[in-house]
Amino acid sequence: MKTLRLRPGKERSLLRRHPWIFESAIAKGGGDSGETVRVESSDGKFLAWAAFSPASRIRARVWSFDEAQRIDATFFIAACANAISARGLFDLKSDGVRLIHGESDGLPGLIVDRYGDTLVAQFTSAGTERWKDVIADALLAETGLAHLYERSDASVRALEGLEPATGWLRGGTAAAGQDAPPLELTIREHQWQLTLNIAEGHKTGFYLDQRDSRKRFADYVQRLNLRRVLNCFCYTGGFSVAALAGMAAAEQAGGQGGGEVVSIDSSGPALERARAHVLLNGFDPARAQFMDADVNASLRQFLKDGQRFDAIVLDPPKFAPTAAHAERAARAYKDINRLALQLLSPGGVLFTFSCSGGISADLFHKIVASAGADAGVDGYILERLGGAQDHPMTLEFPEGEYLKGLVVMRKG
Ligand code: SAH
Repeated sequence: MKTLRLRPGKERSLLRRHPWIFESAIAKGGGDSGETVRVESSDGKFLAWAAFSPASRIRARVWSFDEAQRIDATFFIAACANAISARGLFDLKSDGVRLIHGESDGLPGLIVDRYGDTLVAQFTSAGTERWKDVIADALLAETGLAHLYERSDASVRALEGLEPATGWLRGGTAAAGQDAPPLELTIREHQWQLTLNIAEGHKTGFYLDQRDSRKRFADYVQRLNLRRVLNCFCYTGGFSVAALAGMAAAEQAGGQGGGEVVSIDSSGPALERARAHVLLNGFDPARAQFMDADVNASLRQFLKDGQRFDAIVLDPPKFAPTAAHAERAARAYKDINRLALQLLSPGGVLFTFSCSGGISADLFHKIVASAGADAGVDGYILERLGGAQDHPMTLEFPEGEYLKGLVVMRKG
C-alpha cells in the first residue's frame, strides 16, 4: 500500500473531514494515477484513504476517513446506493435528477444525472477515472437502468492530466430489432416539458440545478402578474418557459394578459431549442422573442432605448471558476446587475445568480448591493436562492455551495 505523508500541521483540514489534499501539503509519497493511497500525518497517524492525482494541484481526494474501510467495488456500490437513496427523500417535481454530486456525496470527481431512463456521468478526477467500470456497473445495478452515457469533456479533466472522453459507457448498442438509444431526450419539470441532447448540451445536457428557481420565477410572474420579462443567459429557455407558464396561470385566474418574454443567449443551438420549447409547451410563439446577442451589450442598448422590464433573470456562466478570479468576476457581476436593476420597473423583480465557486454567498450579496447603489436603485431582498436539493451542500465541504441567487424587488 502506497502512502502520502503530510507536512506538519497539514492534517487540520482532513481532521475536519474536508476531502482535498493539496500538493503543497505533502511531504513525501505518491502513487499511480487514481491509485488509492494511505494518507498520514507528519507523525505517521492514519488520516484517510484517498485517490492520488499526480498531475493536479489537488494531489489527492479522500474516499474514506475510516481506516477499516477497504476501497473496492463494494465501497463504490454502497456510495452510489447511498447517494441514490438520498434523492428518494425529496419530491423533486421532475424526472431529471442529479443522482451523484461529487464531493457532497463522498465521490469526488463524479457527477451523475438521470434523465428519464438514461444516465449521464462525468468522471473528472483520476480516482473516478480509475474506478470507471466499477462505478458504471454500480450505477446500473442501483438504478435498474440500462443506458449510461459518458460526458467526461469538462475542462477540469485537463487539470487531472486526463483526455476528454464521451460516448455510451453502457447500453449503447441497439439490441436485436431495436433502435440505438436516443441522445435526444425530453424531461418533465414541474408543469412543463424540456428537451436536451446528452451528447451536445452543456454539462450533462441541462441545468438541473436551477429547477426550483425556475418554479419560483413562474410563481412570481403569476402572483405579481408580471408581463414584460427579460431572461438573460437563457440557454435552452427554462426560465422563459417558466415565465410563460406563470403568465398563462395569471391570465387564467383573471389577471391581465398579453405578456411577453425576451430571451438572450450567445449560443445559436441553445436558442433554437429554447424557441422549440415555447411550442412544445403550447405557448404562443408571438409572445417569446429570442436574441442571439451578448447580454452586456444588449442591456446597455435597452437602457439607451428607454426600455423597462417587470421581471429579469440574470443567470450568467461561471465568471470565477476559482477564488483567484474573484476580483475580475466581481466587476463583471456588478456590471450586469447594475444594468438589470436600472432596467427594472418599480415593483419589478430581479432573479440574479452566480454559479462561481470563487464567489461566496456573502460576497455575491455585497456585489448586488453595490450594483444597486451605483444604479441608484433601492430594493427589497425577497429571498435567497440556491441549488436544488439534489445538488446537496454538506457541512464538511463548503465548496459545494456553488450556486447562489437573490430575488430582489425594486422599490416603487
Ligand atoms: N438559465 C439557464 C442556464 C444558463 S447557462 C437555464 O435555466 O437553463 C449560461 C448561458 O449563458 C449559456 O447558455 C451561454 O451560452 C450563455 N452565455 C455566456 N456568455 C454570454 C454572453 N456574453 N451573452 C449572452 N449569453 C452568454
